[in-house]
Amino acid sequence: EQTIIQVDGLTKYFPIRRGLFKRSASPVRAVDDIRLTVLQGETFGLVGESGCGKSTLGRCLLRAIEPTGGNIRYRDRGGAEIDVRGLDKKGLRAIRRELQLVFQDPYSSLNPRMTVAELVGEPLICHGIARGGEMRRRVTALIETVGLSARHLDRYPHAFSGGQRQRIGIARALATEPRFLVCDEAVSALDVSVQAQILNLLRELQQRLGLSYLFISHDLGVIRHISDRVGVMYVGKLVETARTEELYAHPFHPYTEALLSAKPIPDPRRKADRIVLSGEVANPANPPSGCYFHPRCPYARDVCRTEAPPMKQVSADRAAACHFAGELGLRGAL
Ligand code: SF4
Ligand code: MG
Repeated sequence: EQTIIQVDGLTKYFPIRRGLFKRSASPVRAVDDIRLTVLQGETFGLVGESGCGKSTLGRCLLRAIEPTGGNIRYRDRGGAEIDVRGLDKKGLRAIRRELQLVFQDPYSSLNPRMTVAELVGEPLICHGIARGGEMRRRVTALIETVGLSARHLDRYPHAFSGGQRQRIGIARALATEPRFLVCDEAVSALDVSVQAQILNLLRELQQRLGLSYLFISHDLGVIRHISDRVGVMYVGKLVETARTEELYAHPFHPYTEALLSAKPIPDPRRKADRIVLSGEVANPANPPSGCYFHPRCPYARDVCRTEAPPMKQVSADRAAACHFAGELGLRGAL
């Protein structure tokens, strides 16, 4: 299995705005020393509570936000390894064709004054891929690829349902024939029944087009449905990575266990369930000492309050950042 994206030491610090985080002495570590790999053709799911840095990580990967530090390596179509952080503006523009973002909210991410044909055709023009009749032909093929049809092309986004709008957003992301997509909460704004349709579409497209996904969601059910492997984030750090079925059957990190055993609370505003854990999420501007999870961790011991646990390789494809990874008998999701 080939690696398509490899990230090492990826870090994003935000400077502190005066008065907002008064007690903080250092910048906010929104993404803190992340190391992860996405394989060709797989879905790597990224899960964690809102505000843990998932979206910032996804955007840093594409340099939609400029990282503070670390390496991003991308293996391109021809098999060459590209140092994404080392690219200048022109190089980055060229590589953007292959690395795309699918947004969270199909209601606000599509310009309401553009028709479907214009929305999907725009990236083709921007990247000099096609125009005129050739563009129209490609746009029609793209819109059919996502399960809509040519008769939708001259309508405006308001004429469509949430699920249809997300299909349009996906067609737009696919226009440049990307190989790697960051899907940020791509189904979170949709009704549960529509979520399944969009997830199935993404899977079908993955198989047909050989796509690789970084799939970001706070929803454990969605992540389980779509992911081959999962990374769990807490306060800017990756705390556990594992194959999906292993993570859900037998978590190695107490935070993963807490997420899996939390009762989802229906949230009518977001149409998806919300996970609420006991205790406060750590403030990234002023995180706890030692293990960031220690104030909420039922297994915390003295060492947890003083020493930050490094990511520990527990088996060939499992790692967890806990002093006692693999030693605690966690209950898991059951
Ligand atoms: Fe809990 Fe300690 Fe492990 Fe942190 S290092 S998750 S506090 S047991
Ligand atoms: Mg987010």
